[in-house]
Amino acid sequence: MTFECWFAGCERIFTTRDQLRNHVSNHGYLRVVCPWCSEDEKSKRRMVDLKRHVSECHVRVIADDERLHFLRERCGFFLAINPDDYKRAIETPGEDPASDYLKDAVRGWCAKNPKGRSITEWEKGWRSVQPIPRRNRRSTPSYP
Ligand SMILES: [Zn+2]
Ligand SMILES: [Zn+2]
Repeated sequence: MTFECWFAGCERIFTTRDQLRNHVSNHGYLRVVCPWCSEDEKSKRRMVDLKRHVSECHVRVIADDERLHFLRERCGFFLAINPDDYKRAIETPGEDPASDYLKDAVRGWCAKNPKGRSITEWEKGWRSVQPIPRRNRRSTPSYP
């Protein structure tokens, strides 16, 4: 199995998903914002960098993370500047209390930064991992 970089003009191919992740992060496409900082889009290169920053600057958040574990790499999807690319490089998180915590953090952050990206934009990016609303579900799967 091989993993190809999908960015225009880049045709690198890797043998492991990890190599692809590292490569894609070098393009700057796995950047995540810190929703606990008041500055606008003060982003970090990867979730692991955000975690380090949070442990230095947001002690209260670390206490919450010990319970909910939302500072995992896949949860970074909710803080990703490019959620589509994030999803492509890293597995998609499910809906759980950890994702609710991160979404609330981003909502609070948007409220403090009216000039930054709007919550509507963020929610558009998150929509891909939300469970399908019941009314759209079919009782039997329909495949053509
Ligand atoms: Zn590339
Ligand atoms: Zn911060």
